[in-house]
Amino acid sequence: MTEIAHFIDNARVAGTSGRAQPVYNPATGETKATVALASSEEVGRAVASAHQAWKSWSSTPPLRRARILDRFKMILWERGDQLAQAISAEHGKTHEDALGEVTRGLEVVEFAVGAPHLLKGEITENVGTGVDSHSLRQPLGVVAGITPFNFPAMVPMWMFPVALACGNTFVLKPSERDPSASLLIAEWLAEAGLPEGVFNVVQGDKEAVDTLLTHPDVKAVSFVGSTPIAKYIYETGTANGKRVQALGGAKNHMVILPDADLDMAANALMGAAYGSAGERCMAISVAVPVTDTVADALIEKLVPKIEALKTGPATDRATDMGPVVTKAAQEKICGLIDKGEAEGAKIVVDGRGFTPPKGYENGYFVGPTLIDEVTPEMSVWREEIFGPVLSVVRRKSYDEAVDLIHAHDYANGVSIFTRDGDAARTFAHDIEVGMVGVNVPIPVPMAFHSFGGWKHSLFGDHHMHGMEGVRFYTRLKAITTRWPSGVRTDPEFFMPTMG
Ligand code: NAD
Repeated sequence: MTEIAHFIDNARVAGTSGRAQPVYNPATGETKATVALASSEEVGRAVASAHQAWKSWSSTPPLRRARILDRFKMILWERGDQLAQAISAEHGKTHEDALGEVTRGLEVVEFAVGAPHLLKGEITENVGTGVDSHSLRQPLGVVAGITPFNFPAMVPMWMFPVALACGNTFVLKPSERDPSASLLIAEWLAEAGLPEGVFNVVQGDKEAVDTLLTHPDVKAVSFVGSTPIAKYIYETGTANGKRVQALGGAKNHMVILPDADLDMAANALMGAAYGSAGERCMAISVAVPVTDTVADALIEKLVPKIEALKTGPATDRATDMGPVVTKAAQEKICGLIDKGEAEGAKIVVDGRGFTPPKGYENGYFVGPTLIDEVTPEMSVWREEIFGPVLSVVRRKSYDEAVDLIHAHDYANGVSIFTRDGDAARTFAHDIEVGMVGVNVPIPVPMAFHSFGGWKHSLFGDHHMHGMEGVRFYTRLKAITTRWPSGVRTDPEFFMPTMG
């Protein structure tokens, strides 16, 4: 069986720690490979390689760095299919969905290719007589990315294109559940001309992560994953003097007001709740219809659509929704549905007893599930399920809907469906959530804007990609300059001011 390796100094490097774990095909439950789990020493080697490469990479002109990323972008366009297949084989998502992920990642590369413009500083002539000030942004050094299973290509691409464009070198620690995409990316970066050591990959688990969090040569850490780990990463990384952005979990609500286009809302909910088997940090997992009349009409529209949804392996191009990532995920999701039922919620469509297609009986499938009469006291509302489960929490008014959303610890994304511009504008302004959609179910900002939630969905100060990414991966320096111009004065001992 193949063991998925690390990638250091532009080459695959076999693991030497003696530790490895299985990587499954979630559609069949079969072990398709193992992945090496790095020891501290192996992580140290990757950091040393990145540290060594930093001096020359950081002083490479931004335009030259951008041209390498531009070549990488062209490779992604040409071989997106291959990357999407690698993602589907380990994650389980459909090919089209995986291709969408590749494209959203590629868009960050497109943004990063603008590095020379993005890194331009500011200058003020004559801050004092004959004195000029300018500011510039300099890279940090070696930066690390620790990423989740649900977007094995896109989430790393939220990070490294901007980090590299700014002149940093990068060590990626991908999810151990679907690690293959990281190696394709690393090889294509090398093929595009990236010098040795600028981008390294270490496969691994907590041991690798802890080494990155405490290593003195790692200057910043970008993390995306679940909230308890995000909090741990933030606290440990910052305690070790690093700059940290740690994006966590989510529970995204969609408010449906009585004047909404209900067909549009129902279709939007289908994709947002069940696309990628609900394993998206921007999935809508709670529908909040305002008034019982809207709730009843919405559920009537949703049920036949859910029943018609085709769940199966990614290799079947007719599949709408694939399996979930592991057996543990399948058990957790079904366990939370059980809990919701026991707590008094009404299971309208039940995905627990889903019968997989022939040949896929051991796959980690959960059928699409709809739960009505969910209340804020129930664990199905409080906890992130991260599966194909949509809960309906009925509210009597707009204000009640807003209070419900504000009562949750997570605040990643939210959306409102309405024809009332006034209500939409008030909602967008007042709601305490990082990303807001108006008649848009999954409001993921484009690459040239920035992605990030609020409250327990993000620990740190910077969102990812866009100008926030540039700010995260650079340090600002201000330089004040005076040149003797033949005008000489005696020493002065007071604070210079503009007179
Ligand atoms: P996870 O937290 O289990 O793992 C994320 C990363 O942390 C992995 O690389 C993993 O190896 C590492 N890790 C896991 N346990 C660790 C530990 N104890 N110590 C140190 N490192 C550890 O998350 P996941 O299950 O891979 O991904 C799903 C989660 O990610 C969901 O909660 C989802 O909402 C979240 N997510 C959030 C966003 C966002 O933008 N906010 C985007 C995608 C996913």
